[in-house]
Amino acid sequence: MPSRDDMLAELGLTPVWRLRVRTDGARGTDAQTAARGDAHPVDDAERDGHGFHGPEADTDARTARITALEWRDFASDVDACTACTLCRTRRKSVPGVGDPNAQWLFVGEAPGSEEDARGEPFVGQAGKLLDNMLAALGMNRGEKVYIANVLKCRPPNNRAPEPREVEACRPYLDRQIALIEPKIIVALGRSAATTLLEADASIASLRGRVHRYRGVPLVVTYHPAYLLRNLPDKAKAWEDLLFARQTLRAAAVTDVPPRAGSLPL
Ligand code: URA
Repeated sequence: MPSRDDMLAELGLTPVWRLRVRTDGARGTDAQTAARGDAHPVDDAERDGHGFHGPEADTDARTARITALEWRDFASDVDACTACTLCRTRRKSVPGVGDPNAQWLFVGEAPGSEEDARGEPFVGQAGKLLDNMLAALGMNRGEKVYIANVLKCRPPNNRAPEPREVEACRPYLDRQIALIEPKIIVALGRSAATTLLEADASIASLRGRVHRYRGVPLVVTYHPAYLLRNLPDKAKAWEDLLFARQTLRAAAVTDVPPRAGSLPL
């Protein structure tokens, strides 16, 4: 017999937040409330047993809270998240890794088995390929580069992310991007591309163009795991990365303020 949570999830009515019951009669701090994914501090109505916040109200408050997160609280907040069922099956959450002021942001789909064990994105075979691609561009994951995923927790058996999981995790990715302020985003694969662009399209139709995520140039390429299975497409991925670098350089030139002598009178 499916549990109540499973049924609500099936109906798309998750995330569900529960009122925490303190046996000592005390109330948790707001920080504890926030870290567990409970959107609201316990208010008087709730204490009296009359309060009820539907999922939508809670979702809005949760999004607002995540939108205000600073780096120092980011990883612990992700780790305490219970907004979808993946927190029950994952080993470690995988918030992201790299330079918090990176120019380049690479976004993948979701952690796999090795990432789940280590709590770091792209550390398996696909990650080795990504590291090689970065090295070919003269970069490494610690410097000028940040690597994140759409989902911060591993889907069981590496299945594709479900829409409700993407929606539950989206505020974290949005917040990361706002904190990093990258100059270029590279979407690795369809999941990252369609999530960031909020449009359903194939990789083939999205490659080779500059898209925008909230004004930031975004380039789409193949996911490294796909490239491991389709070696001839590595050359196309390399073209995409060169295109991303060219886009970044062009943006840097355009950002240079005009010299005083060149201002229109
Ligand atoms: N695939 C991804 O999309 N992300 C990872 O972190 C690892 C594999």
